[in-house]
Amino acid sequence: MIKSVFIKYFFVALLPAALLALINFIMPEFFAENSAAVFIVALILALVFSFLIYLGESGETSGLNSFMKELHKEKKELQEIISSIKEPIMVVNNKGIIVLANRAFEKMSGVSRAEGKHFSKTINSDAFTVFLNKVISSKKSSSSSIQIDEQFFFISASYLDTGKEVSVLFQDITQLKNLEKIKRDFVSNVSHEMKTPLTAIKGFADTLEGEIDEKNKHYLDIIKRHTERLINIVSDLLVLSELEEKDVIEISRFSIRGMIADMMRMFKKEAEEKGIELKAVIDTGLDEIMADMGKIEQLLINLTSNAVKYTDEGTITIKASKKGKDLILSTSDTGSGIDKKHISRIFERFYRVSKSRSRQSGGTGLGLAIVKHIALQHKGEVWVDSTPGKGTLFSVRLPHALEKD
Ligand code: ADP
Repeated sequence: MIKSVFIKYFFVALLPAALLALINFIMPEFFAENSAAVFIVALILALVFSFLIYLGESGETSGLNSFMKELHKEKKELQEIISSIKEPIMVVNNKGIIVLANRAFEKMSGVSRAEGKHFSKTINSDAFTVFLNKVISSKKSSSSSIQIDEQFFFISASYLDTGKEVSVLFQDITQLKNLEKIKRDFVSNVSHEMKTPLTAIKGFADTLEGEIDEKNKHYLDIIKRHTERLINIVSDLLVLSELEEKDVIEISRFSIRGMIADMMRMFKKEAEEKGIELKAVIDTGLDEIMADMGKIEQLLINLTSNAVKYTDEGTITIKASKKGKDLILSTSDTGSGIDKKHISRIFERFYRVSKSRSRQSGGTGLGLAIVKHIALQHKGEVWVDSTPGKGTLFSVRLPHALEKD
């Protein structure tokens, strides 16, 4: 700025001086005779020139002024739009400082002037701090459901195109969570309530067996079969609601080799009755793993019992293998297989490919939902490869199960 002002006025001063020097050089006599008039003309020229510069400058300034006004107006409009959005929104820079926050955010956080503060000073949640720090350090957009005080939010954090700022949007899902809980509690309560009467019906049906004549035995068998089915559904529902209720896993060190040996014992009779071979394949040196023992046992029971249920001949293999620090558990069978169109839905609750076959073998449609839940609780995954008529392979990856501590 200072430099441009200096250059400008230097030229204003230089121009009349150059004019005087030129006249003196070309017409020395004329200059000597009319020096006063020449000085006056040079002075007038300097004034005209300065005036022109001034005019140009003021034009420029007014252009700049209107541009700034326009910019200010646009910024205000943008702030108004952001403020009018009901969902809390904030934008943080890569140091975690809030550069923009709307009214809803300030209301939610209870901080009236959030801009300029570090986000962790406005929202009191360790889970949120960990989540946003991870987004900032990894430079990857992400989303998560997080509890802040008494409310639940679905939070989406997206890196802006500038690559320097992260926009964070909070969607209140408290009502949805409450409804989910009411539904879970209802299912759990009903299942508990049904368990006792069902066990009583089963007990009395068993007692009646010896005292009933051949004609009525058929009816008793139907009562027993349906009671059995109801008991299976209720106990699977109880397992699921317990998994959801206590959404924590208790990690301990245990022998997967021993657990698979237990599975072999547990399903030996059933497999033998169907003429199926039951095999275990475990990587050499693989024994102890870190996971929730009870839940992994439940997962293996569900997968192995399905394999036995849906296989009429051939072999069932339970496998445990190492993949870096992860453990891969799988069951493969030579059974009916699953058609491609059903694959994406079989982990849903109550989804059964063949209702009659599942019902016949005491299926509830909840077994794989439980398996998926357990895998996810371990931050792992479950997937399936199947060829109809040839067989099915279910695999579960348990991350870090092979870490020493
Ligand atoms: P179910 O109690 O009916 O077995 P699951 O949730 O365990 O319920 O399984 C859902 C559906 O997936 C089953 O009804 C069955 O059609 C299919 N399925 C599961 N495991 C196998 C398998 N090993 N082979 C073929 N089909 C399977």
